[in-house]
Amino acid sequence: MKTIAMILMTAAAVQAALPATGAEGESMIPLDSLSIRIIYDNVAPEEGFEAQWGFSCVVSGCGRTILFDTGGKGDVFMKNLTAAGISPSGIDIVVISHEHWDHVGGLGAFLEENREVIVYVPASFSDDLKKRISGGCASLVEVSEPVEIIPGVYSTGDMTGPVREQSLAIRTGGGTVVITGCAHPGIDRIVEKATEVTGGQALCVMGGFHLGGAGQARLEEISRQFDKSGVKYCGASHCTGDESIAYFAKRYGDRYIRLGAGRKINGSGLKGL
Ligand SMILES: [Zn+2]
Ligand SMILES: [Zn+2]
Repeated sequence: MKTIAMILMTAAAVQAALPATGAEGESMIPLDSLSIRIIYDNVAPEEGFEAQWGFSCVVSGCGRTILFDTGGKGDVFMKNLTAAGISPSGIDIVVISHEHWDHVGGLGAFLEENREVIVYVPASFSDDLKKRISGGCASLVEVSEPVEIIPGVYSTGDMTGPVREQSLAIRTGGGTVVITGCAHPGIDRIVEKATEVTGGQALCVMGGFHLGGAGQARLEEISRQFDKSGVKYCGASHCTGDESIAYFAKRYGDRYIRLGAGRKINGSGLKGL
C-alpha cells in the first residue's frame, strides 16, 4: 500500500515532468483546442448513448486528457465511453468531484481497464474509499486547497458545503471554463472560487448545479454572481432540476449549452461574443 509521503512525491514528480506552457501560474489553454465530451448524464442522450442518473465528462486539448467524474454505473459508463470513441488508455488523469455514487460509481470499472492514471479526490473522501482507489491506480492525490493539476487546469480545492466537493477550472484564452459535478457547495460560490483560483473572469459554467426547487429568488441571486464573474455561456444538467434548467436556458438563449450524454462542446464555439 502506498504511504501518503509516496503519494505526495509521485504527484510532485508528475507536476515537474509536465511541460510548462507559459510563465509560472499563467499557463493558458488555447480555447480552440479545448474540447469537452459529456460521457454520462441523465438528460437527453445523443444516439448510441445511454442516459442514467449521474455525470461524467472527458476534457481534452489541455496537454493531458482528463476524466472528470465517472457516472453511477460502471457498465453504462464504459459503454458510453466506447460510444464516444474514447479508449480508457487515452485518459491520463481522473478527477472525482465528490463522494456520491452517481459520480464515483463508474470508477472501479474504469480502473480495471486503465490503472496507470493519477486520481485526484477531495481530501474529505472516506479513508476506506481512498484506500480502495489508491490500490487500483498509479497514484492518488488528495486535494484540500486549490491546486494546478496540469498547466492551466485547476481544482477549486475541496470546498465546504452540505457535501464537500471540488470542481474544475480551466484557464483559457477566452476566460475560465468551470465544470461541476453536483455543485453542493453552491454553484455561485464555485464560480466565484474558480475565478479567484485562475485569476481571470469566467467564460462558461457547465455541469450539475443542484437547484431542484431553488425558486426564483435563489436563481436570480446565482445569476447576479454569474454576471459579476463574467459568465457568458451556461450549460445546466444532471441534478440542476427541470425548472432551473429552463430558467438558465431562457436566460442564456443562444449562449445556453445543451448537455446530455454524447454531447461535445468545442472551445471554438464559445467565442460568439
Ligand atoms: Zn450527482
Ligand atoms: Zn452529489
